[in-house]
Amino acid sequence: MDFEFTGEQTQLRKSIRDFAELEIRPHVLDWDENQIFPLEVIKKAGDLGLLGAIFPEELGGAGLGYIDYSIIIEELARVDPSVALIVAAHNSLCTNHIYVAGNEEQRKKYVPKLASGEWIGCWSLTEPEAGSDAAGTRSTATLKGNHWILNGGKTFTTNAQYADVCVAMAVTDRSASHHGISAFILENGTPGFRVGKKENKLGMRASATGEVLFTDCHLPESQLLGKQGEGFVDSLRILDGGRISIAALSIGIAQGAFDAALKYSKHRKQFGRFISEFQSIQHKLSDMATAIEAARLLTYKAAARKDAGKRITKESAMAKLFASEMAVKVADEALQIHGGYGFIKDYPVEKFYRDVKLCTIGEGTSEIQRLVIARQLLKE
Ligand SMILES: Cc1cc2nc3c(=O)[nH]c(=O)nc-3n(C[C@H](O)[C@H](O)[C@H](O)COP(=O)(O)OP(=O)(O)OC[C@H]3O[C@@H](n4cnc5c(N)ncnc54)[C@H](O)[C@@H]3O)c2cc1C
Repeated sequence: MDFEFTGEQTQLRKSIRDFAELEIRPHVLDWDENQIFPLEVIKKAGDLGLLGAIFPEELGGAGLGYIDYSIIIEELARVDPSVALIVAAHNSLCTNHIYVAGNEEQRKKYVPKLASGEWIGCWSLTEPEAGSDAAGTRSTATLKGNHWILNGGKTFTTNAQYADVCVAMAVTDRSASHHGISAFILENGTPGFRVGKKENKLGMRASATGEVLFTDCHLPESQLLGKQGEGFVDSLRILDGGRISIAALSIGIAQGAFDAALKYSKHRKQFGRFISEFQSIQHKLSDMATAIEAARLLTYKAAARKDAGKRITKESAMAKLFASEMAVKVADEALQIHGGYGFIKDYPVEKFYRDVKLCTIGEGTSEIQRLVIARQLLKE
């Protein structure tokens, strides 16, 4: 076991932190308040290789592992969780599904353009009636001649409004249950494919979340992704990796909130003393820092297993569950340390407090993570 970062990882953290401080920090409030999707910064992230972090160099990726990827997502989230969410959905959901399940032609066509940021990707599993129970997908795909005809609609798709490529799941054989849902690659402009309502959200407001709709959408047969009927099973594998990114995102939010609270506690005076001198504030800071570190260890363990090619269903669910619930508590305590000033938008904790809630919901709620973990424990 080696708990030290490599020189490259330390350098990577520093360069992402510099990028986030310089290019993102000055705009965070404006993007949040006005729900502005930061397309220009996302393109710059593409130039830096962040949109293809986990893909091999021969496909235009940065060839990094999941620990490096966690560092990237964490550092982006420490400044703006929305940017981290956009990058995470693009990398570990959309592009990774094509990379993992795609044939050679699909990989070569899509991964390089997604990895460079020329194209933005989204991934649509959730439907209005199929959230936690994603196998309850109702959208359908029927093969007619050499085209699939898709009908139905998806909800809550991150990046939907800005995506050039969408990976979406639809039922191809209702009688086959979990093995009757297939994945498809849709390009913007495909007839019958359109994006619907953009959601007005509590947090993560600079990320776009919206509907994806199919009305007699004609898709060439070759746009089937992976084996017919295996799209749902593949999605679960994709989510195993994706959950590492949501754990990292949670850690980034917690770290950002903690940093703000620590700084504030050393400046704010009450009763003639800095509030950091009060033992109850010190205990809060100690508990927060300890919990963040524990979440990091769980997340890096899952990431290291992923890089070693091992199964991570239990480990990534544990990391995501612990890190997201930890981050909700840390953001709450960080706001508490700010007193009334934590409640106003002049201080960053107000936004962390709103953004963080997504982490216990997206890519499977805490209740579903517990269910996933329990299933693995009972199998072992
Ligand atoms: C900002 C945002 C971005 C998102 N991005 C994407 C995306 O890019 N792609 C995508 O496909 N989806 C995305 N989602 C959807 C997200 O994954 C779902 O919201 C989530 O899986 C929960 O589904 P639901 O909202 O339908 O809640 P429901 O499934 O209706 O759950 C409601 C409540 O019931 C609980 N519950 C449900 N089933 C059980 C059970 N068996 N046991 C115990 N409790 C249970 C849940 O834990 C929850 O507390 C996003 C959501 C948000 C808010």
